Amino acid sequence: MLKDVFGSFGGAYVPEAQLKALKELEEVFLKYRDDEEFNAELNYYLKDYVGRQSPLYYADNLTKACGGAKIYLKREDLNHTGAHKINNVLGQVLLAKRMGKKKVIAETGAGQHGVATATVAALMGMECTVYMGKEDMKRQALNVFRMEMLGAKVVAATSGTQTLKEAVDEAIDAWVNASDDTFYVLGSAVGPHPYPTIVKHFQKVISEESRAQILEKEGKLPKAIIACVGGGSNAIGSFAAYIEDSEVELIGVEAAGKGIDTPMHAATIAKGEPTVLHGMKTLCVLDENKEVAPVYSISPGLDYPGIGPEHAYLNEIGRGKYVTITDAEAVEALLTLCKTEGILPAIESSHALAYAMKYAPTCKPEEAIIVTVSGRGDKDVEAIADYLKENQ
Ligand SMILES: *Cc1c(COP(=O)(O)O)cnc(C)c1O
Repeated sequence: MLKDVFGSFGGAYVPEAQLKALKELEEVFLKYRDDEEFNAELNYYLKDYVGRQSPLYYADNLTKACGGAKIYLKREDLNHTGAHKINNVLGQVLLAKRMGKKKVIAETGAGQHGVATATVAALMGMECTVYMGKEDMKRQALNVFRMEMLGAKVVAATSGTQTLKEAVDEAIDAWVNASDDTFYVLGSAVGPHPYPTIVKHFQKVISEESRAQILEKEGKLPKAIIACVGGGSNAIGSFAAYIEDSEVELIGVEAAGKGIDTPMHAATIAKGEPTVLHGMKTLCVLDENKEVAPVYSISPGLDYPGIGPEHAYLNEIGRGKYVTITDAEAVEALLTLCKTEGILPAIESSHALAYAMKYAPTCKPEEAIIVTVSGRGDKDVEAIADYLKENQ
C-alpha cells in the first residue's frame, strides 16, 4: 500500500492489480510535474484553448448589497466548457499522451466531468469512454447526447443506485482491466493516491492566479477564500496557494440540501464518519449499517457521499473551515448574483456565494474575500425553474 498522504486520510486502499497502475501513474506524474516542455504544452492549452487566466472580478454591486468585505469573484465559469473541470482534464490527458495511452475513460455524475473529458479527448484525438449511472443518464439526457456529439461513448453503470458512486466503481474496474492502453481521467480530488495530489496540482492554477491578481488589485492577501465542495477539486485548487498563509481563512461550503438534520443532504464533513470509499480513507456519509448512504443536493455536482482526503485533513487540523448551505439558500444566492451582477452562476458555485453573502457583512469594508465561481449556470436553468414552481 502507498503511504497515507494527508494525516489519517488518503492512501490507496485498492487490490494489487490496481496498485500497479497507480504506481505507474505516480511515476509519470512525478516525472512530468516540473518538466518544462510538459508545462509549456499545458500552459499553451490553458491559455489559448481554455481561455485562462480567468478574471478576478470585483463585484461592486454585490458588495454594496451585502455590506462589509469587498467581494471578488474568481471566474472559472468563463473557461471553455463552462467550469473548472477542464483544468484538471487537460493535465491528465496530456499525461496520458506522454504515457503513450490511446484511450481515456472517465466517470461522470451529472455529466460535467464527462463533457470536459470528451472535449479534451476530441482535441487530442483519443478514444473516450464515459461511465455514467443509468439513473443519471435519464436525468441528464442532454449531456449524454453532448458527449456523444463530441465523439465519446457513454456506458451505463447499472449497479447499486445507478448514480455517481457506481459510475466511479465501474470506471475503476474497466481501467484495471485495460490499463495497458487506457488512462483513467478522475474528475475530482478524490480516489486512491496519487489522484488527489494530481488533481490538486492541475487545479492549483486557480489560486496561483487569484493570489497574484488580488495582490495587484488590493496590495494584500484576502481575508478568506470561499469555494463549494463536492469531491473538493475546485476548493483545493482555490486554497492551494494560500495554505501557508495562516492569516487567510479557507472556507469550504458543502451542500446541506433540505437540511443536515434530514437524510436529504450531502454534508460530508458536517455529518460524515471515517471510512474507505473509492480507494481512499476519508469522511463519508454512512447509514445505520455503516454503509455509504445515498446523498442529496439540488446541485448535481455536489452530491458525492465522500470528500477529497485533503479536505478531511484540513478540517481535522483546523486549517480549513467547512460550513453548509441549503438548497433554498443556494437558489436565492444564484438569483441574487443574476440580478445584481448579471452573472448566472452554477448552482454548485451558488453554495459558495450564499455563504459569502452571510460572511461579508461580518467583515470590515477594507477587507477582501474571494469566492470561486466554479461554473456557469446555463445547465441549471430548468432545475431552478422547477424549484421555484414547487417552492412558491
Ligand atoms: C463538478 C462541479 C463541482 C464540484 O466538484 P469539485 O470537485 O468539488 O470541485 C462544483 N462546481 C461545478 C460547476 C462543477 O461542475
